[in-house]
Order: sequence, then C-alpha cells, then structure tokens
Amino acid sequence: MPRYISPLPDPAGSKTWPRKLVILGSTGSIGQSALGVLRLQAERFRLLALAGARNIPLLAEQAKEFRPPLLCTLTAPGAAALRQLLPAGYQPEILWGEAGYEALASLPEAHTVLSAQVGAAGLRATWAAAEAGKVIALANKESLVLAGTLLRSLCATTRASILPVDSEHNAIFQCLAACIARSESAADGELPKKRMRAEPHAAGNQREAPESPRRPETAPELPENGLSRLILTASGGPFYGNSPEELERIRPEQALAHPTWKMGAKISIDSATLMNKGLELIEAAHLYGLPMSAIEVLVHRQSIVHSLVEFSDGSLLAQLGEPDMRVPIAYCLGWPLRLNTGVKKLGLAEHGSLSFAEADSRAFPCLALARTAQEHGRGSPVVLNAANEIAVQAFLDGRTGFTGIARLVRTCLQAHMDGAYSVHKARSEPQSVDEIMALDAET
Ligand code: MG
Repeated sequence: MPRYISPLPDPAGSKTWPRKLVILGSTGSIGQSALGVLRLQAERFRLLALAGARNIPLLAEQAKEFRPPLLCTLTAPGAAALRQLLPAGYQPEILWGEAGYEALASLPEAHTVLSAQVGAAGLRATWAAAEAGKVIALANKESLVLAGTLLRSLCATTRASILPVDSEHNAIFQCLAACIARSESAADGELPKKRMRAEPHAAGNQREAPESPRRPETAPELPENGLSRLILTASGGPFYGNSPEELERIRPEQALAHPTWKMGAKISIDSATLMNKGLELIEAAHLYGLPMSAIEVLVHRQSIVHSLVEFSDGSLLAQLGEPDMRVPIAYCLGWPLRLNTGVKKLGLAEHGSLSFAEADSRAFPCLALARTAQEHGRGSPVVLNAANEIAVQAFLDGRTGFTGIARLVRTCLQAHMDGAYSVHKARSEPQSVDEIMALDAET
C-alpha cells in the first residue's frame, strides 16, 4: 500500500503559536513570497533565522525588517558584507557556509524550517532538519529527487515531517489531506501490542532502536485500492507547441519569460525544457510512495488547476487557485490552519475556459529522461539532476543551445548506466548523503 513519505506534524506542537520559523533561501522567489505571508500573519510566526546565499543587499533589507536573531549566508566575505549593511543596535549572530545552513536547519527552538534553497546544494540542510525532527516545509525539490528514499527512512526514525511547498505536490497533498489525516488517526488508535508509541517530535530527538524489525512506519497510509493515479499539471512553458527545429533557436532571454509563474532563472529554464516537470514526477513518487507508472503529466496552459488525484471509482479531485506561491507556502507554514495569504480569490468566470492536453515528449525529451532515471534508480536521478544543473548554466552562459540541455543530460545518464562514473558504479542505491554528493560532483 502506498504510504506518505513522513509522519504528519505532531498535533500538540502544531497548536502552539506563534510558530517558530527558520527560512533557508529567503532571497529567492519562494523565500520572498514566504516573507510576504509573514507580513500578513505577524502574530502567527516568530522568525528565528534567515539564510540567503548571494544577494547580500536583499538579505540585509529582510533582516532589517524582520530582525531575526540569526542570519546566514554562503561565504565569510558575504557575512562580513552583511554585517556592514545592518543598522547600529541590531547585532544578530551571522553564520556562513554549509555548516551555517545546517546549524540553522537544526536550531533546537525551531518548529518549522522552510527549505527553499536552489538546487542540489539544498540537500544537506534539508537532511539536517530531518535529523533534528523538524517540520520541513519543502520547496527544494532536489532534496527528494536526490535522497527521497533516505529521507523517508530518516523521517520514520526522527518523526520529522515533510510538507510539500511545490505547488503541484501541495495540490495533491490538499486533495489527499482527508485520507492522510484519517489514516494516521486510525493507525494511532489501533497500535499493535509490539509497536512503540511514537514520541511527540522534539528537536534532536534520537529514537531508540525498534524492538521488532517489523515495527510499522508511522507515516500515513494512502487509501488502499482507492487511489489510482496522480496527475501533475504542467503549464507547458513558454515554448509549448514549438517544433524541435524551432526549439534549436531559443535564446536564454526567451526561456526566462514564463507565461504564468514568476520564478528564479534555474527553475524558469527547467520549466521551458519540462525538466522541472520531470523532477516533479520523481518528487511525487517519493512523497506519495508510488511507482512512476501511477503518475502522469497533463499540460494545462492556464496554471489554475495545480494538480489532480484520480480514485478508482472514477472521481477526480483537483486543487484550483490563482498561480501564486503564497498559497502553498502558507498551507505548509500554517498547517493544519489555512491562513489569509492576500492572494486574489480565483474568479473562474473571468478565466472562462480551462484547457488540457498531452505533453509532447518528442519536443521535450527531459520528461522521458526523468522517468527513465527514476525507474532505473541506482543513483540515476542524482546524475540526471547534476547534468541538468550544469547544462542549464551552460545554456544561460551561451555555451550550449536550448536543445543541448536534454542532449547533455541524456549523455551523462547513459554514461552512468554504463558504469562510467568511478565513485558509484551504478550497481546499487546510494547509501548516504555523502555518496549522493560525490556522485553529484563527479557528474
Ligand atoms: Mg512545481
């Protein structure tokens, strides 16, 4: 039976307000939207820490406004520059580097950590938050693409919770919320005798080893026989309908202009190649414990239906709303409450009609490459993601064309499957974050 990736947040801890919050990646698009939610919900949250990698002036502005006691940036010179920009009388502790991010992610007093850094670099901080048993509002999809299986077992041990910020996965979570919550409360009411009662999650909580190797996980089960498919919607990106020949001539500035969502450069390019949807297929497989064959993609140009769940009786449930990331962010930060986000209410009559179509896998081969990587396993999604990060940067720098991105990813994936990489011979699943990061680096 499919099972959600982690236990849900401890209900007792979730009733304590203001909720203590850490934001990793505050200067990115998701981080800025999260601060927009906090401005409207000041009484609900206490911001403990902000981390931003490179945009020091913006991080300084955010720090001046929200005054968290802790800040973090990527480098020591960045930390020094940040200190210079802060007003006299506000003296936060400023950390830097990977260790700084990990310290913030596992801050003992934090309840929720928003993990919104860009790329594979976000994995270590997500991992630190999961080790510390936090509620993780997860926007860094690479954490799941690279280490979904390892995170699933870690969350079972530490009682950390993962709530998906990515709009499609958040939509599915909302569609399944009733079944997930019911399944978890039913499981709690029927503890088998040998099963250890789960401790309420606490920072740094190290669980004892289970008495029985058959101790069930505490992550909620999804409805048996009831759930037939997840359907992720895709806007199709700015080049939907273009032929492969037209795609050869795309320039970076065209690819950076997304028709419906405002996003950072990396994810905008990923949306244009549909690699973003490919990574989201893998993300959904890990979150909901499903095989790739049970997850499909549907092109929906208006980005109003954020994703759907199909049940075996023929019902489809969908979550709809304006394309604005403040909605899924607020859903995760405020869970189980729904908060006022300031987002305009959806006027369906204004939109008039919504359209749906199959994705064109000939023009957009990244979708199929992602499926292949996840089905093959054994580190392939790590290689897929690493090759894509490098290829996207090469495209932005003018060193390869738009269709060169998928070609480079395919070449690396094939090399990995042929056993070309020395750190990981493609025979088994990576067993640790260090192994994953070594394979990422070698790719
Ligand atoms: Mg998404």
